[in-house]
Amino acid sequence: MRAIVRAYHLVKEGTSIMPDNAAPGAPQGTVYTGDVIHGKKVISALNVNDLAPGQKHLFYFQGVGMPTGQHWYVSVVVAKGARPGKRVVLTSGVHGDEMSSVHTVQTVMNQLNPAEMSGTVTAVTDVARPAMESMQRRWPNSGRGPDLIDMNREWPGNENGVTAASRHAWILFNRLLRPNADAAIDFHTGTTGFNVTAFNLGEMNVPEIKSMLELYPVGQIFDNHAYPGVLHNAFVDVGIPAFTPEIGAARVLNLQMIQLFVEGTMNVLKHHGIVAGPMGRTGKDVRVFVGDSAFPILATQGGLVEHLVRLNDKVEAGQKVAIQRNNFGEVVAEYTSSVAGEVTGQRSDAMSEPGNPLTFILFNKATPDVRETYPE
Ligand SMILES: [Zn+2]
Repeated sequence: MRAIVRAYHLVKEGTSIMPDNAAPGAPQGTVYTGDVIHGKKVISALNVNDLAPGQKHLFYFQGVGMPTGQHWYVSVVVAKGARPGKRVVLTSGVHGDEMSSVHTVQTVMNQLNPAEMSGTVTAVTDVARPAMESMQRRWPNSGRGPDLIDMNREWPGNENGVTAASRHAWILFNRLLRPNADAAIDFHTGTTGFNVTAFNLGEMNVPEIKSMLELYPVGQIFDNHAYPGVLHNAFVDVGIPAFTPEIGAARVLNLQMIQLFVEGTMNVLKHHGIVAGPMGRTGKDVRVFVGDSAFPILATQGGLVEHLVRLNDKVEAGQKVAIQRNNFGEVVAEYTSSVAGEVTGQRSDAMSEPGNPLTFILFNKATPDVRETYPE
């Protein structure tokens, strides 16, 4: 109800909630606002086709407006090849606490030499900028009090959405990301308090996506459509093959794991003909477990959690994976897996209340669900 009232006021007062120079539909060319921040030109629309070839271009892109009247800006690096070719978009920071995803994209971009490239790679490292400022998962929305918005449930966004995260998603998707993507990769990690393995999330039944997923030397593939509203699905829904790498724990840089995803992403750029040279290690060089479902094991009690298995361990149906103790040290719960598979995620915070996911087991369902949602 409050949302309706708010929307009414916006219409009534003729207040634009878009940047001044925003136009409906896809932009025809790169739009420079005339502003410069820290030496970087500010743009409000990007078309990589009109940038000078054979060099890197660094911009701030003007995102959604803030309550104070200024804007959130995101950092954009474009490696524009000397010769034309495919265009790949790399994103990170849709969740603000997932630092290994940011470093993976930065490392790939730093390895690229546009003078030797055929095609263009565009990187946006800090999509949910206000979430990154406090290194937290969700966007702190001020519109209706202290809401925290999971931006990876908002794509492709809504131009007139009631939350800033929704409007920011619309601006970025329509004026920055989609117009410059023939393929896209949205990098993530586990979340604060919950670690995951190195894995890729994407749909193996889409040939263009499968061929990219198999180019990563990482041990697990989660072959699942995942939530509606995640960024990679917004790309897929408009015909752009996309997927989501998950790079271990939140909040930290796991340099060893990052290197695997850098190698896989360079393979993807070679696969699309943007970068020349021999393939690095791929899924063929490691043991890859492919599962189409994740079995959640939820805490039923409060208390300290003690894991009995480790990430990437194989588990059998009926195997005990964790126990929980109360403050007297008594065991108050024992947790077993109902399925056979591999451990793909584990709670890393030692204390848990009832309802929290403790363990996710990657496995194959006899009849996988088309649309699954998982407890968070
Ligand atoms: Zn994430």
